[in-house]
Amino acid sequence: MQKEHIREIFSSTQGEGIYTGVRQIFIRFPLCNLNCIYCDTPSRDLPGYCNVETKPGSENFKKIKNPLSDENISEIILNLKTYDLHSITLTGGEPLLYPGFIKELKNFVDIPLYLETNSTLPKNAKKIKTCVDFVAADIKIDYPEFYENSIETLKILKDKNLFVKIVVLPGTESKTIEKVAKDLKNHDLDVPLILQPVTPHGEVKEKPGVKKILNLADACGKYLSDVRIVPQVHKLMGVL
Ligand code: SF4
Repeated sequence: MQKEHIREIFSSTQGEGIYTGVRQIFIRFPLCNLNCIYCDTPSRDLPGYCNVETKPGSENFKKIKNPLSDENISEIILNLKTYDLHSITLTGGEPLLYPGFIKELKNFVDIPLYLETNSTLPKNAKKIKTCVDFVAADIKIDYPEFYENSIETLKILKDKNLFVKIVVLPGTESKTIEKVAKDLKNHDLDVPLILQPVTPHGEVKEKPGVKKILNLADACGKYLSDVRIVPQVHKLMGVL
């Protein structure tokens, strides 16, 4: 049985994208292969303990020694289950760094899995394709070297209730976003596109102006049938 380091497990509401507002159990994996300037999650260290919420929505945590087995996690999930539960979010860090663990987890839990990914690891996306039910895939425009990987990942996960998200900063150029929209259309990927104004954090001190983001959405609408502007709602609500 595989064991893995997990950063935290808790129950909350999805705060991003087209499934905003659904109840989920979040499993946060620790490591990431990128280093986005707006990242609000430490993703360089392997935590000695996993922070586990004691009751759904309580925001009280206990520490459980890492690494955890899928069996440990399925027990925790049972304790955090609510009647309104929609799915289990696999988040990070980057969950696609853990394909073996995700595949095994699927054998232990009978709840839909919702993958949040930076979409840069198509080979691993292929490995877990049959395990996930929903996919929120970022395109990281600050990492153009991974752009082709992202398109490949999207093609692999296209049939998994996929939507694409781009975090928009004050300096994000319209031509960059418009090119993504055009490329999605050209690759037969007319999936919902979410433009998410950055939430100021760390080095990022400002969010983009309203006019700017409205214009970006308008430009994307030339190519895609479902373009939406959705900020991080969990941050507005003050939940985890
Ligand atoms: S991909 Fe996500 S977890 Fe990784 S550095 Fe960027 S924002 Fe953070």
